[in-house]
Amino acid sequence: MPNTTNEYEIIIVGAGPAGLAAGLYAARARRSTLLIERKVTGGQIALTADVENYPGIDNINGFDLATAMHGQAAKYGMETAYADVTAIDTRADGRHVLRTSEGDYVAGAVILTGGADYNRLGVPGEERLTGFGVSYCATCDAAFFKDQDVAVIGGGDSAMEEGLFVTRYVRKATVVHRRDTLRASAILRERAFANPKISFVWNSVVEEIIGADAVTGARIRNVVTGETSTLDVTGVFIFIGATPNTAYLRDKLKMDAGGHILVNDWMETDVPGIFAAGDIRANSARQVVSAAGDGATAAIRADHYITDHFPTASIA
Ligand code: NAP
Repeated sequence: MPNTTNEYEIIIVGAGPAGLAAGLYAARARRSTLLIERKVTGGQIALTADVENYPGIDNINGFDLATAMHGQAAKYGMETAYADVTAIDTRADGRHVLRTSEGDYVAGAVILTGGADYNRLGVPGEERLTGFGVSYCATCDAAFFKDQDVAVIGGGDSAMEEGLFVTRYVRKATVVHRRDTLRASAILRERAFANPKISFVWNSVVEEIIGADAVTGARIRNVVTGETSTLDVTGVFIFIGATPNTAYLRDKLKMDAGGHILVNDWMETDVPGIFAAGDIRANSARQVVSAAGDGATAAIRADHYITDHFPTASIA
């Protein structure tokens, strides 16, 4: 039966793989469970064309995988609300109050799985031309650049994976990386090197993205020689990592220097009853499968926590 109050035993914040796995485990433990998401189900994987490293699944579209995960958790009773969580306060009785754009929610245990947002370069032209040639999602935007030349910024797994994806459409993709070695894993490196549409500009950073109403080029600077040059491109795809969505929790929980939440092996934070799982936590492997594993671990522990601290199941 749907919960008619705003009180739940377990509330999960964020509907990426960690949150969806936590929801499945919490709901199957017969805990009243709410998932709060501010955007769309799936988080980062919802924007990923091909997930091909989730064990047992050879290849699946990220959005389809997220939809399946959500449906599976909902089948066991997990509810979903769409709201922006802005603060968490802890009451004298140990329950946590989540302040959101849609009002307050109360939980015995909270599992934070809000993931991370794409980093920006912070160069002139980037913000103004976002959506007009500047993109942070190849899956979403590559099709707009059919037979055109684009730049791909970054040297990690995301840059290689998304760079490979854009080659399905573009004439040429130039990877601009600030060092002379890629950070990306071997398999993606090999595929990128073998792709005839991909070339590399090493030791270089973007200084400006050029264009009045749409991207016409990118000014780049070689960090070794200091030389600047212009790449004639109509698209700039930026994949330089992500920052965890933890700004609103800074005074509440212990974090590392990068703003990732510190947890123990059970995904417990330093505040009793608050857990963190997936990309939002420190030392995460940042994979779909590891995020899902984190979410399951957090939910199992949260279930024990409710048993120990709120045995009468007075919530909901
Ligand atoms: P990442 O591993 O942090 O790589 C970010 C890249 O951007 C690095 O090459 C970095 O350069 C560069 N960079 C950072 N700031 C920059 C700046 N201001 N200007 C220019 N370049 C900058 O991030 P990611 O590629 O998004 O990957 C995140 C995590 O997800 C990783 O653990 C990754 O393995 C995982 N992932 C896995 C897959 C997969 O397995 N299929 C796919 C995507 C992501 P430096 O190398 O010099 O630091």
